[in-house]
Amino acid sequence: MSFLEEIRNLSWDWMKATISEKTTSDVERALQAEKRSHDDLLALLSPAAEPMLEDLAQTTHRLTVQRFGRVIQLYAPIYLSNECVNACVYCGFNRHNRIRRATLTPEEVLEEAAALNQSGFRHVLLLTGESPGSVSPDDLGRIAEALRPLFASISIEVYPMDTPSYSVLIEKGVDGLTIYQESYHRGRYATIHPSGPKRDYDRRLDTPDRGGKAGFRRLNVGALLGLSDWRVEGAFVGMHAAYLLRRYWQSHIAVSFPRLRPAAGGYIPEHPASDRAMVHLMCALRIYLPDAGLVLSTREPAQLRDNLIPLGVTHMSAGSRTSPGGYASPRDAEGQFEINDTRSTREVARKITALGYEPLWKDWDAAFLHA
Ligand code: SF4
Repeated sequence: MSFLEEIRNLSWDWMKATISEKTTSDVERALQAEKRSHDDLLALLSPAAEPMLEDLAQTTHRLTVQRFGRVIQLYAPIYLSNECVNACVYCGFNRHNRIRRATLTPEEVLEEAAALNQSGFRHVLLLTGESPGSVSPDDLGRIAEALRPLFASISIEVYPMDTPSYSVLIEKGVDGLTIYQESYHRGRYATIHPSGPKRDYDRRLDTPDRGGKAGFRRLNVGALLGLSDWRVEGAFVGMHAAYLLRRYWQSHIAVSFPRLRPAAGGYIPEHPASDRAMVHLMCALRIYLPDAGLVLSTREPAQLRDNLIPLGVTHMSAGSRTSPGGYASPRDAEGQFEINDTRSTREVARKITALGYEPLWKDWDAAFLHA
């Protein structure tokens, strides 16, 4: 059964009501459980868990150190294009926004890659808007082949594709797929994606399954916080990751919970998530999913990122640019959103070390697969 089928009859309102009815003893039971159920996740996310956040944080820290050690794996995004056919109301690349658009040439992509390689990065994430006319699956394959000698790991965060297309990309050297549902609330999803192919909730939700079947080594799901109730989004994304862990056990599963940032179009989040909510969500996800990676981007402020390091974070971006050409040849093209942590890569790495953690530039090499 796919995740889409698994949650077809699960109502958002039921989930919300169940979370709000959880009691202190439900939270205590969830904290002490050997193996935690989805019901435990609902308890950990509940308002009843708020006064126990310190207990959650301690368990989170212990589990993360036990499973991952004191290391933070660093990666950087490369934006290939800011062209997009969708109209996601919260995104700077929305096709209706009158921004300067650009798509990098193959030479420019290599310049971006060389700049990141020189900064020490060995893990990169390639991003585009949804515009296969600007960056086609074949283009992505050629880019992956060209970048392979420079990086140990290449992930993509682009438009949804079918399994055979993903298989081709894996052959070309892409090992990770990042795809966020943005909001698991169907009605909300329809409102914030008024047109374009992304309007298809089911196809998007099924994408990590298609990636899992193709054999990606890393699968990263997420919810964009600010679009809807963060507790219920957290419950769905946790459930989604747990499903992927069960189903695609050969893949490393990671979860992201990015918060909305100011962007062209001026969308104002209707359900903002506070810093405390971020901490709470991260703890609940770590305790429920001890083996999942938790990813934190430069959308978050430096101070909060530093505070979250001893909790559940395993992967962080640093020194990021969200516009095409942002590293090697800054130009007029607009970014997807405003970065919050504007520190340099070296500053972030130094801070990680100062906190007693090791900044990890490379945790595996695709060459192992082909040895
Ligand atoms: S979120 Fe993605 S699909 Fe939507 S407008 Fe932005 S780049 Fe396009």
